[in-house]
Amino acid sequence: MRAPFARIEDRLYQNRYLVDAGRPHIRVRPHQSPSANLLALTRICPAKCYQVNENGQVEITVDGCMECGTCRILCEANGDIDWSYPRGGFGVLFKFG
Ligand code: SF4
Repeated sequence: MRAPFARIEDRLYQNRYLVDAGRPHIRVRPHQSPSANLLALTRICPAKCYQVNENGQVEITVDGCMECGTCRILCEANGDIDWSYPRGGFGVLFKFG
């Protein structure tokens, strides 16, 4: 019997991502210790692109970014990140299946 609702992870798996090698569209500005907002990104990014590295700094891997803008709203204005859309043809490819 088929479940009535698909899990969110199953739906996200339908998306594809075209990597623009060497040109990430979001960058975390260099920092010694992360701000509270940067740390929050490790929990609220729906694609889990942000992680704390072994030095305690927040870093990003943009592969899988859904361009939702959450991190842009939280951290661009205070200078923690530089945010732009991927170049045309790159980035997330949404599937509806
Ligand atoms: S735009 Fe959304 S999915 Fe992409 S890194 Fe920011 S919070 Fe994550």
